[in-house]
Amino acid sequence: MTWQDRVIGYRRDLHRIPELGFLEYKTHDYLWQKLRDLGLEPRRVGDTGIVVDIDSGTPGKMYAVRADMDGLPLAEATGLPFSSEHPGVMHACGHDAHMAIALGLAERLSRGRNFAGTVRMLFQPAEEKPPGGALKLIEQGALEGVDEVYGLHVGAELPVGTVAVQPGPFMANADIFTVHITGVGGHGSQPQQTKDAVLIAAQTVVNLQTIVSRRVAAFEPVVVTCGTIHAGQNFNIIAETAEVTGTVRTFTVDVQHRVQKEIERIARTTAALYDASAEVIYEKGYPAVINHEVQALSWAEKLRGLVNVTSMTPHMGGEDFAYYLHHKPGSFLFLGSGLEGGNSPPHHSPHFMVNEAALALGVDVLFRAIAD
Ligand code: MN
Repeated sequence: MTWQDRVIGYRRDLHRIPELGFLEYKTHDYLWQKLRDLGLEPRRVGDTGIVVDIDSGTPGKMYAVRADMDGLPLAEATGLPFSSEHPGVMHACGHDAHMAIALGLAERLSRGRNFAGTVRMLFQPAEEKPPGGALKLIEQGALEGVDEVYGLHVGAELPVGTVAVQPGPFMANADIFTVHITGVGGHGSQPQQTKDAVLIAAQTVVNLQTIVSRRVAAFEPVVVTCGTIHAGQNFNIIAETAEVTGTVRTFTVDVQHRVQKEIERIARTTAALYDASAEVIYEKGYPAVINHEVQALSWAEKLRGLVNVTSMTPHMGGEDFAYYLHHKPGSFLFLGSGLEGGNSPPHHSPHFMVNEAALALGVDVLFRAIAD
């Protein structure tokens, strides 16, 4: 069996056993065994994380390479023969591919020792849900002694053979807000006695859309999405309370702060317009992934000839890889994994699929990051 086939096998094995964040026990055991089989000495971090060092025997830098481990609470609908065996949980973002690629790299590095310095593999639990696993690994010293840190994510919207990497803003600050509206409920036929929370929630959603259109410069990327509205009990009851939740995506701390203030102001004043009140809870999620210039550019340079290297408009998704880049220079990258023909189901869909031709390429892409 070729190493490329083995990487595909790792991915399929892992795809069958998706687990939610911090519960990646079977995944941990699988990775542990494979790393032991390579003659490596993995270390357990927390309940399910793994850190393993591969020393070339020649002096050089220490490079960290990160692979995230968790699946999503989704029932798989791909019909693949190696579909999830865990009801209601699925590798629908490709973290199975990330782990398989990392195992493939571990195999190449430990067999060949064809590099300088040390590579530290970080198998990280719980990327999908803040506060995430990256901070825990860092707290436990996973970056101690590390010079540079690299990671990749498969991308269904990019074709196989293409990667996207560039210095600077790469993925967004991903925050969560909740607006609690308190009015006065009453009979549907007597609105004059009430302060209608449904009306206020609707106005709030509309007014929040003016942050992007009227309050932020055209060249500042911002998303304000209201994802839920919950209010009301019955058709003839005017709702006393309503709750609106949503997410904000930004790239700079300055814009993030301004958008937060705008949401608070608009929610309060919209409620006040109807003589009601609103309270906003704003929670910061993962910070923006900002690639370091030297590492992103040199990685892109080393990849020329192997793959088609493009830059991309910054991705509005969130990623806790951001935290590693707060501590160490490094870069994140998108590895094209789109299906032939180009209409891949999106990430986080029950139909999501990875083009397995991307996996061996992913090993080469990571290898080049750490090779001279
Ligand atoms: Mn992901």
